[in-house]
Amino acid sequence: MIAVFKHVKEFPQEDGKELLALSPLTLFCVSSLQYGIVFDAGSSHTSLFVYQWPSDKENNTGVVSQTFSCHVDGPGISSYAKNPLQAGESLRKCLDKAMTVIPTERQQEAPAYLGATAGIRLLRMQNESVAERVLSAVATVIQQYPVSFHGARIITGEEEGAYGWITINYLLDSFTKYSAKQQAWVHPQTSNILGALDLGGASTQISFIPAGPMADATGASEFRLYGFDYTIYTHSYLCYGQNEALLKLIQSIVAVRWGRGHPCYPIGYLETIPATSIYSSPCTAQLQPGLSAASGNVTLAGTGNATQCRKALQKIFNFSACSHNQSCTFNGVYQPPVSGEFMAFSAYYYTFSFLNLTEKQPLDMTQAAIQQFCARNWTEWTYPRQQEQRLRDYCASANYILTLLLDVYNFTETTWGSISFCMQAAGTDIGWTLGYMLNLTNLIPTEAPVLLRAHKS
Ligand code: AMP
Repeated sequence: MIAVFKHVKEFPQEDGKELLALSPLTLFCVSSLQYGIVFDAGSSHTSLFVYQWPSDKENNTGVVSQTFSCHVDGPGISSYAKNPLQAGESLRKCLDKAMTVIPTERQQEAPAYLGATAGIRLLRMQNESVAERVLSAVATVIQQYPVSFHGARIITGEEEGAYGWITINYLLDSFTKYSAKQQAWVHPQTSNILGALDLGGASTQISFIPAGPMADATGASEFRLYGFDYTIYTHSYLCYGQNEALLKLIQSIVAVRWGRGHPCYPIGYLETIPATSIYSSPCTAQLQPGLSAASGNVTLAGTGNATQCRKALQKIFNFSACSHNQSCTFNGVYQPPVSGEFMAFSAYYYTFSFLNLTEKQPLDMTQAAIQQFCARNWTEWTYPRQQEQRLRDYCASANYILTLLLDVYNFTETTWGSISFCMQAAGTDIGWTLGYMLNLTNLIPTEAPVLLRAHKS
């Protein structure tokens, strides 16, 4: 209760003098809460999250919650390669709002982090110094705010996967629970720990506890949380996030020249794009045809066929190489068989929520709904102009989700039911940011929390 007497309300009196009075409610809120800020600088956009937790319960599970989130206007920071300073400026509006949410007396001690993910990883592959300049521009702006800034950095795909897994299980109290009956912190069964499926714009991650030993330790990450050891399998696929995968799809359609019909675009949708736009990403650049073929425009005409769409999406993966006794995803990457319940978030949720498919519908119903959606004629749709690209892509992204889950990760009709498509748990957005902050601030202890005497009574 350190800040108790700092926070007083001023009540003007009739004689003009002011009386200082403590507000019991404000007193409690202000004195006992701490705050932290994390920016998720993704490939397609940046979000700011403010978390809060009671300072006297730092070592308990499930006490950190999201109190504010802000969607930064404009594209992801990696899109500011030509004007890095603008990447920093784009953050100001959300930072200003965050400063109105965190009480002034708590701002200086509030840890603030910016984690940049696959968009910046790709930019770094193209031009390392430009990626550095973008990171330094965002850091410069955050440093101008009265928070405890701990830096802007590129997080690895494996960190992204593992922190998403920590976020989910922290929010659902899967790591440890207080049992009133046993008057102790107990360790819930490992089978209650959920796996994490994250689909971003430029990369995708899978993380879970395998049922048996791992044949290849390279995908293993180890943690000690609340007194228990966990070994999870986690893998991140750069270039297989939703946007990059759909670009790979266009690239493969154009490469085989099958009339330039796009099976995932709706019938009646016609688009002409510069050929250079297909090869501008490092994910597609190496397959650029000769200069003459890569110049000019390409016209794509929607044929709205879900079956063909799924087949075309399967072709962006190389399923043949596997030296791990057939326990592979693609490109020879080892993955143990999926096991347990999973939460699928980010673009998994956005797409399935739009298609009303987040109610744990069985696989056959899900596939039927996607078939039906893909067959809709574009000319019959009414839509706001700014939503055109999203609407055009929902058939492709829904089929991409099926391809990833069924053909790449090898979920089956039976294990399909173990996947929940969610955006939030316990009122907090699911993503890597909370797990990242919990780890960096040591809010998850390695040993089980000690029950304070005061809490017992
Ligand atoms: P982000 O969270 O910005 O990294 O986005 C992850 C992926 O979700 C990107 O491919 C975005 O284009 C996509 N996305 C973001 N919002 C939506 C939405 N409302 N509907 C469909 N896709 C979305």
